[in-house]
Amino acid sequence: MAETTDVKQTGAETQKIKSVKKMKEIMTKYYIEAKTARDNGKKVAWITSGGPVEPLLAMDVIPVYPENHSAMIGASHMGVDLCEYSEELGYSGDLCSYARSDIGAARTQGGPIGGLPEPDMLVCCNNICGTVMKWYEVQARYYRVPLFIFDTPIVHTEFNDEIKKYVRSQIQEYIAFLGEQCGKKFDYDKMNEVGKLSVESQKLWKAVLETTRHKPAPMSAFDAFFHLALIVTLRGTQECVDYYTMLCAEMEERIRDGISAVPNEKYRLLWDNLPVWYKTKWLSDKFASHDACLVADTYTSAWSGQVDMLNENDFLESMVEGYTAIYLNIGSDKMADLVLGMIDKYDADGVVMHSNRSCKPYSLGQYDIQKIIMEKRDIPTLFIEADMVDERSFSESQIETRIDAFMEVIKQRKA
Ligand code: SF4
Repeated sequence: MAETTDVKQTGAETQKIKSVKKMKEIMTKYYIEAKTARDNGKKVAWITSGGPVEPLLAMDVIPVYPENHSAMIGASHMGVDLCEYSEELGYSGDLCSYARSDIGAARTQGGPIGGLPEPDMLVCCNNICGTVMKWYEVQARYYRVPLFIFDTPIVHTEFNDEIKKYVRSQIQEYIAFLGEQCGKKFDYDKMNEVGKLSVESQKLWKAVLETTRHKPAPMSAFDAFFHLALIVTLRGTQECVDYYTMLCAEMEERIRDGISAVPNEKYRLLWDNLPVWYKTKWLSDKFASHDACLVADTYTSAWSGQVDMLNENDFLESMVEGYTAIYLNIGSDKMADLVLGMIDKYDADGVVMHSNRSCKPYSLGQYDIQKIIMEKRDIPTLFIEADMVDERSFSESQIETRIDAFMEVIKQRKA
């Protein structure tokens, strides 16, 4: 679900985030390694963005994320062509545009990097949605490779012992599957190392995001959308830890030097749902023109939300809950509690909700969450109807009018 587009800072040249260059280098190296994996005797697994990646790293398998690739496709304005290609194959236009663009890219080697490396296996975790199950079945048949499904029941209210037992048994099956596919025993020592690095990466990512509690915020949610790529693709590696250590230090330096994401930050907003990848710059500039900064979002926070559940000294056991009770796999009331917590933590003046045509699990409960926000915090909310990759669902003039009207309400309230 992350991407690699360059989100430019508004304002002076000096306000650009310096770490962006390093991030691009790391992502380029990662994709080169993934694309040349076979030449180097390594296996590649495609995995869903919220899937348990650490056991793959422990077995020296290169994880590749179709959702990250689809986000890059969206940011490169290549989504419509690839979605249309899938629709011509018979896939419904109502299907998630990450799935449609991935299916299209796989069959045409399309997209900004000429398609993903062919997988040796697929790992699908349904903690984000049900769509991924069918999507991965389609791709497993296309590539004729084995598919492992990691099934995580929805945690409507509490994470109970039944769920725990059920998910724990799948970790054992997952380990057995990897042993079979890799032709070697599972490496528990490496797993311990990877688990520690994963927890450290997530703590650092959380620290980076929390720097925006400072007023003015040194970065925005639009920057977070960009810098998310590593916590999705490389968590559990030293490279990821080093990168977020550097980024965190840069954010602290920006705070010391009085550098902000939006030059005259007066209004602080929260973003809900996936980014609109092909319009991040436009949206960032639009809000900045009203002196508004999107200081936090529910999407990028999801990759640090489980850090308190994880135990670096017993990662395999703690990932039972850590990979089950994630933001998209809990009830709407629990999601609303998290949003209310973020409103308080970041002192938000309003919430922008992307009603995302593609992502039903993210979008269906938004009207309930909106009601709860209005009742419990009484701050304005704005709905933007769009899609994260398929540009046919974005009406610039309509969204511009809505943002202007929303910002007028916020300004009047603050005045
Ligand atoms: S439906 Fe939502 S959660 Fe599922 S793959 Fe698409 S964007 Fe991700």
